[in-house]
Amino acid sequence: MTAPASSDVIIVGGGIMGSSAAFFLRRRGLSVTLLESDLIGRQASGTNFGNVRRQGRPLYQLALANRAIAIWREAEALLDCDVEYRQFGHMRVCYRTRPELAATMEQYAADARQSDLDLEMLSGNMLRTRFPFLGEEVLAASYSPLCGHANPRLVSPAFARAAQRLGAMVHERCAVTETAKMGDDFVVAAADGRQFRAPVLLITAGAWGDRFAAAFGEPLPLTSRAPNMCVTEPLPYALRPSVGVVTPDTEESVYIRQVERGNLVMGGSFYNPSYPDRYRVDVRPENSLSLWRQIQRLIPAVGRVSVIRTWSGIEGYLPDSAPVMGPSMTTSGLYYAFGFAGAGFQLGPGVGDTMAELIATGRTDIDLAPYRADRFSAG
Ligand SMILES: Cc1cc2nc3c(=O)[nH]c(=O)nc-3n(C[C@H](O)[C@H](O)[C@H](O)COP(=O)(O)OP(=O)(O)OC[C@H]3O[C@@H](n4cnc5c(N)ncnc54)[C@H](O)[C@@H]3O)c2cc1C
Repeated sequence: MTAPASSDVIIVGGGIMGSSAAFFLRRRGLSVTLLESDLIGRQASGTNFGNVRRQGRPLYQLALANRAIAIWREAEALLDCDVEYRQFGHMRVCYRTRPELAATMEQYAADARQSDLDLEMLSGNMLRTRFPFLGEEVLAASYSPLCGHANPRLVSPAFARAAQRLGAMVHERCAVTETAKMGDDFVVAAADGRQFRAPVLLITAGAWGDRFAAAFGEPLPLTSRAPNMCVTEPLPYALRPSVGVVTPDTEESVYIRQVERGNLVMGGSFYNPSYPDRYRVDVRPENSLSLWRQIQRLIPAVGRVSVIRTWSGIEGYLPDSAPVMGPSMTTSGLYYAFGFAGAGFQLGPGVGDTMAELIATGRTDIDLAPYRADRFSAG
């Protein structure tokens, strides 16, 4: 039997968290093996909507989001690849039927200013003049000029390729079936019999992360959700910011952006049933129709356009919608960064950088207390 391949760090899961962590770990000089059961970015990181949005996050998460946005701004130079990050703004709107949400957005804007997030509140003539495409039902908006969107299909592969150029070993179609700690090292086995060994193991397995944590005595209440997505035929380019509805009602919670080639990408309304064990989502046509109806309330002109494709993806949720991020509470050398729910794409590069810093130096300026693995069992 061949000896397991050795490195300083093994990463399980090649979404945006795993591939960006591999890149930043290599920049810090650690040897890295990245194992992905399918193709890099094949799951949530490659199927998401593409919002690179800071507003609307819990205030405690803004430090991490700010770290991420700084990396997004230099992504093209850093990765030697245009991942189509465009800082064209992000807007959240509320409807006249929920006027109380305008005050909530205003309060958020005031609070977020301390975390370097400047939001413009818009309503009335000012809103209509600047964004004439919005529907009559829209009452007010919170606009973040320094947010944007990017192409999810490009980002994780670009990080993985950049990590590879720096010397990381990237194994696609390498499903990890077993992880164990033997002495000072973790030994990781893949379905095809390959074995890997390292003193540090980082789990970035998205909606599948809980099974690895459970194997080390840390059961986590991770569930999954699958947002519905549609894309239209290309139209003349007109919509620069990405726009979303603030509402407690799942049905009316939708979002839309336009890519520069002209297609409108939209998502939200009801979730599709998801089956993470089979890596499957049941994309329900009625959910696309509901999404379509809701988008027409937001931007009525969209009504006459053809949808050319619908899809979905699987995101992992913990009960407080925050991820598990940081060291294991049971096993030294083991780290987690998974369960990023519906908002991990924006955070991704910041998470990879933070985890690399933590693993390489033993510390990070990002407060990881809200993300502890034992927060659901600590009472
Ligand atoms: C439809 C949709 C829309 C979204 N829209 C947005 C958005 O606009 N903005 C935003 O910020 N966030 C959005 N999100 C959320 C965001 O996509 C996720 O939070 C983020 O991509 C999670 O990244 P990840 O690397 O943790 O997980 P993933 O991308 O799921 O990566 C985990 C990887 O682990 C691999 N893996 C699992 N088990 C194993 C194993 N045994 N061995 C090896 N590899 C394994 C999987 O194959 C997968 O590739 C959306 C999500 C979805 C699904």
